[in-house]
Amino acid sequence: MIPFLDLKAINSRHKTEIQEAISGVIDSGWYILGEAVKQFEEAFVTYCGTKHCIGVANGLDALILILRAYGYGPGDEIIVPANTYIASILAISAVGATPVLVEPDLKTYLINTASIEEKITKNTKAILLVHLYGQACPMDEINNIANKYNLKIIEDSAQAHGAIYKDTRVGNLGDASAFSFYPGKNLGALGDGGAVTTNDDKLAETLRALRNYGSHKKYENLYKGMNSRLDELQAPILSVKLKYLDVDNQKRREISQTYRKEINNPQIILPSVYGSEESHVWHLFVVRTIKREKLQKYLLDNGVQTVIHYPIPPHKQQAYREWNHLEFPITEQIHEEVLSLPISPVMSGDEIHKVIEVINKFD
Ligand SMILES: *Cc1c(COP(=O)(O)O)cnc(C)c1O
Repeated sequence: MIPFLDLKAINSRHKTEIQEAISGVIDSGWYILGEAVKQFEEAFVTYCGTKHCIGVANGLDALILILRAYGYGPGDEIIVPANTYIASILAISAVGATPVLVEPDLKTYLINTASIEEKITKNTKAILLVHLYGQACPMDEINNIANKYNLKIIEDSAQAHGAIYKDTRVGNLGDASAFSFYPGKNLGALGDGGAVTTNDDKLAETLRALRNYGSHKKYENLYKGMNSRLDELQAPILSVKLKYLDVDNQKRREISQTYRKEINNPQIILPSVYGSEESHVWHLFVVRTIKREKLQKYLLDNGVQTVIHYPIPPHKQQAYREWNHLEFPITEQIHEEVLSLPISPVMSGDEIHKVIEVINKFD
């Protein structure tokens, strides 16, 4: 069986370095917001090209903290794609603001920039972008809209560590960016982790306090904050894995190129890259077919594990009962037709060719 994602194999490559990193923390005797978190924040700043990185507990918190730092709440509207992992939308709900859903482009699965303006009202404060499946959003169009209406741009970069839009990395394309280091992401910890990147000094200072009870100075609280810190044990593991991120992303690109060149089945629509090859880091390789259930079962029967990202759109979830009557036809079509094939830096050539061979025989 070719697994969808073999996390053990991914992390085993760096076992010695990871063990040394953990040992270093044990020996430091400092287990919350110590040197290891600081070092990772500095390394990630260098990588993303931003001024600041603030390590937090997970990706959802990273988004919530950004929205809180901007002071968004009831009455404020935030534009967000209708087809995203639900965390992007939950963050907006968590601060009491209103998520305003926008349909995606069926070719890229990214927010359809042509549909944003019609959703803007006098209450719109920000556009929360999602670089879905690993592909950077079309920033030129989005920047034009944000400038015209004076909106903040918040990136959800949880699936796109390292993607580059016209020489600038994801995380440095908007006003603030949220990252997740959930184990399955392109840069994954051995547990939960997250970060915010930004070039805004004031925002960074607020975020540093907000993640730590709203405290800027021990036992003095400026804000009603949270406890959402990047774990001191996860930070040095992330520093180890960050060194290999570009090489791993390149491996994903190569697999994607092979898939896109050699998968040749009229029933299956392959993903496309609208920009440069570097604009995509292939967190997921998502194909589309009207025979999705049949294809998934066929692949499983033939030794290829796949996953659906995602089976139920956010507006059809029980958690958002109030939206269940709404219609987002493109979003709904995507959720009915997508299937993610295995893609990871540890896949062997044999595995890649087996996936291609099996999928080409599907009818
Ligand atoms: C994974 C993910 C998140 C949430 O990250 P966690 O660390 O699991 O909280 C948010 N947005 C997107 C698009 C994601 O893929």
